[in-house]
This record gives sequence, structure tokens and C-alpha cells, in this order.
Amino acid sequence: MKKYIMALDQGTTSSRCILFTRDGKIASAVSREFPQIFPNDGWVEHDPLSIWSTQISVACEALLKIGGNWKEVSGIGITNQRETVIVWDRKTGDPVCNAIVWQCRRTAELCEQLRKDGLEDHIKEKTGLLLDPYFSASKVKWILDNVPGAREKAERGELCFGTVDSWLIWKLTGGKIHATDLSNASRTMLFNIKTLDWDDELLHLFGVPRSMLPQVLPSSSIFGYSDPEVLGASLPIGGVAGDQQAALFGQCCFGDGELKNTYGTGGFLLMNTGEKPYMTTNGLITTVAWGIKDKVTYALEGSVFVCGAAIQWLRDGLKIIESSADSEYYASKVGDSGGVYVVPAFQGLGAPWWDPYARGMIIGITRATTKNHIIRATLESMGYQTADVIDLMERSTDMKVKALRVDGGASANNLLLSFQSDILSIPIERPSCIETTALGAAYLCGLSVGTYSSLEEIRKNASQTDVFSPSKDEKWRKERIKEWRKAVSRSLVWKE
Ligand code: ADP
Repeated sequence: MKKYIMALDQGTTSSRCILFTRDGKIASAVSREFPQIFPNDGWVEHDPLSIWSTQISVACEALLKIGGNWKEVSGIGITNQRETVIVWDRKTGDPVCNAIVWQCRRTAELCEQLRKDGLEDHIKEKTGLLLDPYFSASKVKWILDNVPGAREKAERGELCFGTVDSWLIWKLTGGKIHATDLSNASRTMLFNIKTLDWDDELLHLFGVPRSMLPQVLPSSSIFGYSDPEVLGASLPIGGVAGDQQAALFGQCCFGDGELKNTYGTGGFLLMNTGEKPYMTTNGLITTVAWGIKDKVTYALEGSVFVCGAAIQWLRDGLKIIESSADSEYYASKVGDSGGVYVVPAFQGLGAPWWDPYARGMIIGITRATTKNHIIRATLESMGYQTADVIDLMERSTDMKVKALRVDGGASANNLLLSFQSDILSIPIERPSCIETTALGAAYLCGLSVGTYSSLEEIRKNASQTDVFSPSKDEKWRKERIKEWRKAVSRSLVWKE
């Protein structure tokens, strides 16, 4: 049996490649950041060619680290930042413009108009999604409406639309395969999560020709083979899933009611809800978790737009820390945030507030406030936002969350996880391998290429965990949450 599964993890801020052994251990990993483009207030773009060049280079480097032998790799799993839209020319493979990133708010007005037209419930019923600029549909429409000549070309069938997974599959297969998986399709707002097909009514509403769309396949299946001229070998692309769904899979949350939170650029709480889509009306999203053979598993999701990105802002914007990891050092110099609250609503707020017009805020500053308090309050904002989403999920499902599995870049921060445990009053469990997103993609691939024969076999890999236990009383918890919510209320409906 071949030794490794290659996971390509194309995130919002970096492209990563990890080679996993069969028992879920990291054999080699390489990561590379790429530029974030902010052309306007609230707009976020990526260059699709930077996405591709960083991704392919880390793949080659990760392989070189273990001797460069493609013959030892059984297949490729892809996981990716979701909802981000790329439109490219079917013949030349050239993107028609930059990728519009999931965080981008440029289509807020369009979404507002659709809401005013009374379409929100209907769209939610079909897609499980909230009418928000976050999802792909309004971004594709924006490109077709604003890039000169794009609509005409699209109508003639000359353009392809894809989320980042489709783009990578296209590039890896030398332009032969235009496909996506069920989990990524379910984030586009063009896909009906009940019929499991692109929805003609939604395509019409957003003016997207069907010919632009990728073929939708189960998350664990053979999507195609890499072109030897591109990668040096013909390997099966055997697993594809959006980053959060992949993380749910990588955390082995295979059963009904199992959940995880990822502290990445954004924050994402997902709960496996089994074989039926669990529809709610209160700001949570219903989404496809994954498809394996004929079986589709659904999840309920609450998202926080700005999570670790707030720490990046401390580093790159305020320049009060040198690296993200420094945040723990400075925050631990003070016992608490000294009454300071940071609401990192840089691009509006997600669940449970869903306010695209909220903007960031620091409140509670006094003469005694230091940079350490602000750093600590920024870290704590990740914990508060997560607690708000859990509260909402509990209220929607009548389930009590008893423990939380965590992952993502910022879950390396012990102070954050201790605070999270205190504010939720439940244990927080961090696996020894926090690269669960990449691991999920590797597992999905491993299932289709025969490395694993069942989910039970994968579950045996579940790694040892660090556990953070609560140390504060109920009074402390309630007071902090009350103040946090007061702070949030001041940041809402700021940008008209
Ligand atoms: P993504 O996949 O969304 O790019 P990652 O899971 O790699 O994100 O997480 C990166 C985010 O985590 C960044 O926003 C970074 O600021 C934050 N981060 C990384 N390490 C730490 C740390 N030790 N403490 C706090 N935040 C961190």
C-alpha cells in the first residue's frame, strides 16, 4: 500500500500542502501566504494565479521533503476556502478578473434588494443559506454584470464558474475536468440542497447560465487525475470538501449531534445533523456536510466572519504584535481585559446578528487601558462570538452542548481556549493534530482510493486531545456575556 495521502488545503490567507500517513500523522507540511487585495471599503479579492502558484509550489515542496517520490502518494484530497468565486475562460483557462473572496461585501445592496423583494425565505428553503453577500451567487452576478464582455461570453458557454476547489481541479487536470463536490456546491446559493442539483429558478434569479457550472460529485469520489505535465504524475483526486466540512470530517464528527469549532481567519461552528437537512429560521445555515457514495450528510452551521483575522489586524494593521502567536504572551501579562471589549465587525457581523452594516469597535477604554488589554480583548472576542453561536445552536436544536472540539490556526492559543472554556462553562478539546481541515480532505480521499474501508477505520486514528476545563463561576460568566452583548449592540447598523 502507498504510504501517503496528499492534502491540498487552500485557505483564505495561505495555501498549504500536507502529506499524511495512513494513521493520520503529518509526514510533511509546507505553507505559503499569498496577498490579500482590498480594492475598496469592505471589498476583498485574491489573484487566482497566486492561489494556484502557491498551491502547486507547496505541493511539490511537501513532496520533496519526503524524497520526492510521487509513487508513494495514493491520491490527492482538496479542501478550500468556500464561497469564493472564480470565473475563467474555458478555452484559455485565464480568469476574467480577480477572485471575489467570501468576505467581500460588494453585493450587500443586491442582497438587500432581494430581501426587500421578499425572496429570503424562498431562497433559504431551497439552499439552506441566508440571503447574504457572503455566498457565491451574488458575486457571480457581479462579475457577469461588471466585467466587460463577461455576460456575453457566459451566454455563449465560453466561461466557467467555480469555487476554489473547482479552480484547483481544473488546473491540476490540465483543464480537463470542471467539477465540484456537494459541500462546496451547497455554499453557492445556486444549488438546491434537497434535490441535490443546480436550481433553475435560482440560476435565473442571479442571471447565471447553467453552462458555466461545474459538475457536482460526492465529496469522496474520483474527480479526475492530475496531469503529469502539471504535477509530474497522474494521481487520482479522490476527495474534495469545503474547509469547514472537511474539518468536521477530520475531527471524526461522523455521528448525529457531534460538533466542532474552527478558529481560522473566520470562525465556524458546525454540527453534524445526519441524513436530513435541519432547517432553522434564526440565523443558522443548513448545509451539506459531505456526500459519500449515495449517502449525503447534512450539517448546521454558524459562522463568525472575523475571528483570527482580528489577530492579523493587531499584527498588520495596528502593528502592536509581531506574530499572531505573540498575542498570547501580551494577553497573559494582564489578568483580564480591564473592561475593554473589541467587536471585530470589520465586514459586518455574522450569526447571530447578521448585520452587514455593523463595523468594528473598541469600547470600555479608560486611562488605565494598555495595549495588552486591547490584545486580550481581541482574543476574547473570538471566545464571545463562538459562545453566541453555540447559544443560538442550542436554542435551535434543543440540544445541550457538553463539550467542544476545536481546531484552526488560533486554536494553538491556550489563553483563548481557557477563556472559551470559562465563558461556555464546558470542556474544550483540542486534538494533537489541529490540521483537521487538511486531514478531513485526506480521509475523504483515502476512502475513495481504498486506503480506508470505512468510517470506523478512520475513527481509530482520532488523536489524543488537550482538554481545557472551566474555572469560573456562573456569576462571572453572566456578567461578561451581558457586557459583551452591550458592546455588540453599539456596533450594529453603523455603516448606512
Ligand atoms: P485560514 O485557514 O482561514 O487561513 P488558519 O486556520 O490558518 O486560517 O488560521 C490562521 C488565523 O489564526 C490567522 O488569522 C492568525 O492570525 C490566527 N492565529 C494563528 N496563530 C495564532 C495564535 N497563536 N493565537 C491567535 N491567533 C492565531
